Amino acid sequence: MALLSIIVPSYNEEANILNTADRLTEVLTKAEIPFEIVFVSDGSRDGTYTKIREAAARDERINGIEFSRNFGKEAAIFAGLKQAKGNCCVVMDCDLQHPPEVIPEMFGLWQQGYDIVEGIKSDRGEESGLHKLFANLFYGVMSRLMKMDMKDTSDFKLLDRKVMDVLLGLTERNTFFRALTFWAGFSSTSVSYEVQERAFGKSKWSFWGLMKYAVSNTTSFTTAPLQMVTAAGIVFIAAALILGIQTLFNYFTHAAVEGFTTVILLILIVGGLLMVSMGVIGHYIARIYEEVKGRPRYVIAKDTRKERAAHEKETE
Ligand code: UDP
Ligand code: MG
Repeated sequence: MALLSIIVPSYNEEANILNTADRLTEVLTKAEIPFEIVFVSDGSRDGTYTKIREAAARDERINGIEFSRNFGKEAAIFAGLKQAKGNCCVVMDCDLQHPPEVIPEMFGLWQQGYDIVEGIKSDRGEESGLHKLFANLFYGVMSRLMKMDMKDTSDFKLLDRKVMDVLLGLTERNTFFRALTFWAGFSSTSVSYEVQERAFGKSKWSFWGLMKYAVSNTTSFTTAPLQMVTAAGIVFIAAALILGIQTLFNYFTHAAVEGFTTVILLILIVGGLLMVSMGVIGHYIARIYEEVKGRPRYVIAKDTRKERAAHEKETE
């Protein structure tokens, strides 16, 4: 029968690992779905990996790896995709904000033939007003730029092996998992779920962390900001033409004394725009540089599968 891999990126989640493993085991056993759990500890500085090891010792179906340092959730998801052996996989958060009870429903839809099952948030849970505002702004802009409705999507989704292989085959380093499943295409459907309260511990995202995430995801997925620079340039050339004609007209009619205001304004506006534009271009060049270097996206330091194999050899 088909095997389902559950991929759980975990960063400093020592309080959650065993509980999450138990909840998943309980739900999936009840639904009679053959499964494996792949924890990816993203360079945690607490006892996350020790807990993963503990869970792995209790159940052969549970495994995990530890990064050599924190590489970010995207890298953790991709490492999980690589480790997973299933015919399909579900990616979910370690803090149970993505309710495991939804997984059997996702699996059922996969059995019906869907290749991607998106988890859609029916509400955004206990998020602050500012967080909501920025999230809405970000997804509004992203959805328009990418011509797909990304609102209320999350990293909670089921992927068929085909889709996993497509994502693993991508050579780019700066990925945006949430949007890539839309990009990949295939037949997809969605289930809605209520965002739960984090089980234990606290959220890893700071305000600036989220800002950086938003900028990096936008630029990893679209070059529209670069095109906006061109568009702004065209608008300013048009404006400059009109102003130029007016200036020349004033010059020839000997009325050219006034206009310092215009000059100052123009210098400020054009200067500002130039700086922003250079910043945008610089940002893309930096991204190209990162991609060109071709460094691995993560480095694995520990692996329960390898430890288990080594242990078995020893006891032979
Ligand atoms: N996470 C990760 N690496 C990071 C930050 C977070 O693997 O650098 C994991 C984290 O352990 C959790 C998931 O990503 O399983 C979502 O993180 P969190 O709950 O902190 O974010 P929030 O739910 O508040 O958006
Ligand atoms: Mg969370």
